[in-house]
Amino acid sequence: MPPTRSESPNLVALAGGVGAARFLRGLEPGPHAERLTTIVNTGDDRVFYGVHVSPDIDIVSYTLSGRVDTSRGYGLEGDSFRVIEQLGMLGHEIWFRLGDLDFAHCQHRTLRLAGGAGLATVTREIASALGVRSRILPMSEDPCPTVVELSGGRRIHFEEYLVRDGAPDEVIGVDLSAAQAATPGPGVLDAIAVADVILISPSNPVVSIAPILAVPGIRDAVLASDAPVVAISPIVGGAPVKGPADRLLRGLGHEVSARGVAALYRDLVDGYILDERDAALEADIAALGLRTHVMDTIMRDTTTSQRLAQAALELAAEGA
Ligand code: GDP
Repeated sequence: MPPTRSESPNLVALAGGVGAARFLRGLEPGPHAERLTTIVNTGDDRVFYGVHVSPDIDIVSYTLSGRVDTSRGYGLEGDSFRVIEQLGMLGHEIWFRLGDLDFAHCQHRTLRLAGGAGLATVTREIASALGVRSRILPMSEDPCPTVVELSGGRRIHFEEYLVRDGAPDEVIGVDLSAAQAATPGPGVLDAIAVADVILISPSNPVVSIAPILAVPGIRDAVLASDAPVVAISPIVGGAPVKGPADRLLRGLGHEVSARGVAALYRDLVDGYILDERDAALEADIAALGLRTHVMDTIMRDTTTSQRLAQAALELAAEGA
């Protein structure tokens, strides 16, 4: 029987990289894929080795196609690194690891952009070549580099902060001014306008979700929507599952906890899923006016991702 509208609502997810991709793979296999639009952070995009790399779009596309290298956590399974190894031999800095097949996708993106195609079109081409069923949209087609400000006045691109420098502790700010001056990507505002459910993935709130919401029009579109908005805490047991969310939250003066992230999202979200390790914070989060659900939120495999995605949809349905 074909899914009815109530069984398959229009879903919109805001997404960063790995955490979001793991969450979204819980929606990709079922009937939801046809109705899922993921709006992805492009604040991490940067040119490496002459090609346009979109780290979050790529990790989401690779994960949803089932092709991601799960042991490395990025890139494509079975990929080799001959091109960048050779570039390294020729004296180039190769701190940003890019596999050969990954390189081909980024080369395709670069050539198509140079030929006048938009980032949304190129994203669709790569996702469709990989067999992704749902729709992946860049938050913007404009350059939106996220700049991390360190004590002493140093300002560096987010990828330099994360990958080259190993996410040092001395963050004092995050500059989203490029995103704040950007235009939403094609389809982004329309997708939010017709959404029945909006999901904020378990992603870094400061450098993945905040840049998306910083693009003029996106936050307002979410606020204007009648759809229930549900977020999943990326902080589990008082720490990120991976990545530097703790250093970035702390550096910006936010509490590193499920409650701290809930406070950041309180104007936007109706529902919030927190991990069972943080159950003691549930009452405080409910006091912010959010409907809560407590469960194991660690996504070890597709089954646990599906369980989390299902819980998010159920919590959303309670608020519809
Ligand atoms: P990045 O761009 O690869 O750093 O990825 P994201 O923006 O998606 O952010 C990573 C965030 O996802 C971190 O704060 C992690 O704590 C969170 N995360 C990753 N895996 C899981 C998981 O299994 N469960 C939960 N609740 N959060 C996760």
